[in-house]
Amino acid sequence: MGTVAELKVVAAAGVDPSEALEAALAELERIEALTTVHSDSSEVSRLEREGELMLSPAVANCLALACSVATLSKGAFDPTAGALVRLWGFPDAPALPDSAAVDRARARVDPARIRLGIGRSARIVSVEPGTELDLGGVAKGVGVDRAAKILVDRVGPCLVNVGGDLVVHGTKPGGQPWRVGIQDPRDPSRLFTTLSLTGPRAVATSGDYQRYFEVDGVRYHHILDPRTGWPARGVRSATVVASTCALADAAATAAFVLGPEEGLAFLEGSKSLEGVLVTTDGSGELVLHETSGFAALRTP
Ligand code: AMP
Ligand code: MG
Repeated sequence: MGTVAELKVVAAAGVDPSEALEAALAELERIEALTTVHSDSSEVSRLEREGELMLSPAVANCLALACSVATLSKGAFDPTAGALVRLWGFPDAPALPDSAAVDRARARVDPARIRLGIGRSARIVSVEPGTELDLGGVAKGVGVDRAAKILVDRVGPCLVNVGGDLVVHGTKPGGQPWRVGIQDPRDPSRLFTTLSLTGPRAVATSGDYQRYFEVDGVRYHHILDPRTGWPARGVRSATVVASTCALADAAATAAFVLGPEEGLAFLEGSKSLEGVLVTTDGSGELVLHETSGFAALRTP
């Protein structure tokens, strides 16, 4: 997943959590191996190649969630954005593409290219030839949820954090809520706010500072707007709080692409989502756009 994983678990005296921690880490690695497009043998690569595939439950759920967020966000989040992501060369060799190539790739980005299975065949998924999938905007969240489930089922309250996308279960020892800082997108070594959360709760952030390159002073980052084919403009970071990290992850990417007004309306439209979109004003100061329930999550 190209980042660092942190797993914390609260174990009763005398309980050794090391096996559960190993299993949780192995689950994260398993989800990465199933969903990555950087390996020919992942299920996502095989689905692209073979056109139809019986997916494992985790990948089938991941794609179904991705498709539903694509619908809710009117295509701002799109699991077929792989054509654009690969054209732009993220994450290994990003470079400015020419605009005709952007338009050609954009024409192959459409969630209707994915046909999810239904009923008993829910795991049999097909895609149109030439579809390039990318689950990079949601797979981290799926992995975090599944790793945390192992820890909470086998040991107790926990926090699993993969590059800032995280889930908490229960509380810290002593009943204290978990404290989660949100990075300042201009200076990620600084936090602009802290949340106090009792689980199950998940937080995910999409930011223009996570992966980018610069040409002539212009920043080009890794979150692409399927409507234009170019990096989404306007938002510096989008943080979403949800009941699962998979949903928080996909919704954060969607809100980032939608921009401050539409993105906030998208979050407000779903009762289970809270969040904050960060923009900067003319003098570079942070401007926060928060959902109505976000303030209640801040550390008092
Ligand atoms: P995140 O860091 O969760 O915001 O996800 C960003 C990653 O999702 C990128 O590195 C791409 O792999 C992928 N991606 C980029 N743009 C989109 C988009 N509009 N919809 C879905 N996934 C995207
Ligand atoms: Mg995301």
